[in-house]
Amino acid sequence: MIIDHVTVGAFQENCYLVSDPGTGGAVLVDPGAEPEAILEMVERAGVTLEAIWLTHAHIDHIGGIAGVKAKWNVPVLMHHADQPIYARGAEVSAMYGLPFDQPPAVDREIVDGEELTLGRFTFTVMHVPGHSPGHVLFIGEGNVLGGDLLFAGSIGRTDMPYCDPVAMERSLERAMTLDDSLVVHPGHGPSTTIGDERASNPFLNGTARPVKR
Ligand SMILES: [Zn+2]
Ligand SMILES: [Zn+2]
Repeated sequence: MIIDHVTVGAFQENCYLVSDPGTGGAVLVDPGAEPEAILEMVERAGVTLEAIWLTHAHIDHIGGIAGVKAKWNVPVLMHHADQPIYARGAEVSAMYGLPFDQPPAVDREIVDGEELTLGRFTFTVMHVPGHSPGHVLFIGEGNVLGGDLLFAGSIGRTDMPYCDPVAMERSLERAMTLDDSLVVHPGHGPSTTIGDERASNPFLNGTARPVKR
């Protein structure tokens, strides 16, 4: 499996291209902005795009969808609980004064525990609400497409509309049940591992917030 990425937009969001070199199939995770740069990444990889998977619906993760779908009309998959955020994308972007193409409706809703296939590989959907109500992780082949649940040295914000700090606590505890060896590819900043974050992330090792052990 190959995981490529491009960092896009005002919020420096990581859009990932996950592909199976055996079949040539690929999915985009969180095409957040700058669709031209995302299309270029897909074309350079020489893969066939099969779907768009969304960790959540904040504007910095969905702003490139319209541009991608104008070229390849692949299905968009998302947890239903982020629909209100998805629907308000253009409105929220206007508040930030940012250009934004409202994406077409989500094609398929995904749920906790669901298995998604990409070529020869299987990813499991884990619902981790808190940063947003429908936030999910995609876990497979030793990798986690992590969105804004946790970052190298930090965690996602819980002070915005639709955030739920109590749910976030539970979701972080659930993420800490994952194996240390898993590589996390977050929505912002560099990749890390569950083990590194368990050891050194102040929000996960007991320094900045209490954790259950
Ligand atoms: Zn977010
Ligand atoms: Zn984000």
